[in-house]
Amino acid sequence: MLYFVATPIGNLADITFRAVATLKKCAYILCEDTRYSKRLLHAYSIDRPLISYHKFNEQKRIQGILDDLREGKEIALISDAGTPGICDPGELLTAACIAHDLPFTVVPGPNAALMALTLSGFPTGRFQFLGFLPKAQGALSKTLEEILHFNGTTIAYETPHRLVKTLLALEKLEAKRCIAIARELTKLHEECLRGNVKDILATVQATPPKGEFVLLIEGRKEGEKTWPEILTHVEQLQREMNLSLPLAIKCVAQLRGVPKREIYRVAHGLDQS
Ligand code: SAM
Repeated sequence: MLYFVATPIGNLADITFRAVATLKKCAYILCEDTRYSKRLLHAYSIDRPLISYHKFNEQKRIQGILDDLREGKEIALISDAGTPGICDPGELLTAACIAHDLPFTVVPGPNAALMALTLSGFPTGRFQFLGFLPKAQGALSKTLEEILHFNGTTIAYETPHRLVKTLLALEKLEAKRCIAIARELTKLHEECLRGNVKDILATVQATPPKGEFVLLIEGRKEGEKTWPEILTHVEQLQREMNLSLPLAIKCVAQLRGVPKREIYRVAHGLDQS
């Protein structure tokens, strides 16, 4: 049996009894960074061999793991933090186990995305998780536009040095959308900033935050206009019907029941309400 065991995302005490018991009984534990995981094993007196399993060697390791599972060995996979397979190695192994009809299960526990979702206060009934957002500016803007259309909460992982860049791109699209930044979860400096994009951006620009982050974007409310969608509609009419900008704006304003002057302001980058 292969166990995907969730481990703490910061606070070493966040590990289940079952996770510890599972790690103690396995023949060996696959982990991203053996030096890093030693600390966890030491804290819980788990005396099992650690074998490195990370994105650069996972392909190479899989055959040996499958052979051991066939022999009936019990093996655990952990990552540096949280739930394996969630933006961490694991996906290839689950696919391989399914393909070869070998047993695996998950020992659940900490996960930054789900903890942040609860903490954000945004609706939890419908959400999407996107992992890390694209790095390239064009792909990032396109993804953000799609996110703004989604009528549920969006969760994404973010790094400190890219947070401002992402918020600047989001501000261009919809400065008034509510977002949350969940930072340093389960750690000493845990906090959750909530507000609209413009205000949160001003806060993080004034005091660049440190540590690990989860970005949450509130979903589009039913029937709510999104500016990227409206501006795309204007561009589409200009392009496909060869309309001048004022005429295209007038048509979109009538079709969507949005005041013409508001579309003008946004089209000229003046305001977003
Ligand atoms: N497998 C992990 C999980 O289950 O959450 C995620 C691993 S991913 C490589 C690392 C990213 O998760 C970080 O860049 C950050 O966005 C998020 N993250 C992990 N721990 C966090 C924490 N304590 N507070 C906030 N975000 C965290």
